[in-house]
Amino acid sequence: MPFVSDSYQSVKLELRRVNHREVGVFARRAIRKGELLIVSGGRVLPYHRVKALPRSFQRFCFHLEHGFYLAPPRGRKIALGYWVNHSCAPNAGDGRGWYALSLMALRRIRKGEEVTCDYRTVIGHGDPRYRPIVRFRCRCGSRRCAGLIRI
Ligand SMILES: [Zn+2]
Repeated sequence: MPFVSDSYQSVKLELRRVNHREVGVFARRAIRKGELLIVSGGRVLPYHRVKALPRSFQRFCFHLEHGFYLAPPRGRKIALGYWVNHSCAPNAGDGRGWYALSLMALRRIRKGEEVTCDYRTVIGHGDPRYRPIVRFRCRCGSRRCAGLIRI
């Protein structure tokens, strides 16, 4: 389905297990560089409303601007855009290096390959109202892996 819970997602994508604990978004078919993969819709919430959400839900929230965060719509299926995993060497992002709203292929993505983006690009660098919601240890395996990621 290309339209789920106010988001657009390419029919070439699917949710799949990465391992016994994690899921991720994978290419069902080969994807060309520059193809639009996802446009994420949802609610725009200030920091204090995000922090009031269940902790398991906070990980789906991404900073947009001015201390406001994009969160999935409540009580509905969580669209694929919110399940895309982080990599320090991603194959998807948007043209300006932003991810939260739109996601494009930054290079050709092979069938069966996991689609990843760099969560650090959604952080409003230098925005004094930005505060990180979650942090985790990255295991992307990239030579330039940043290790601890705070988003
Ligand atoms: Zn990494």
